[in-house]
Amino acid sequence: MAFCGQCGFENPEGAKFCGNCGATLIQLTTENTPVKTAPPTTPIETPPTTPVEAPPTMTV
Ligand SMILES: [Zn+2]
Repeated sequence: MAFCGQCGFENPEGAKFCGNCGATLIQLTTENTPVKTAPPTTPIETPPTTPVEAPPTMTV
């Protein structure tokens, strides 16, 4: 679809001129679309896994 920049008429794909007002249609390419920059993902700080040493149960 090529929308006319002058009148907004919806022209068929590949149309070079607006079928309504005759204005030159500018083919909008998707190359100039700004890339959505994802927000910096903060890495989840995982605490160092300290081996849990079982306390000696010999305390009597
Ligand atoms: Zn037009």
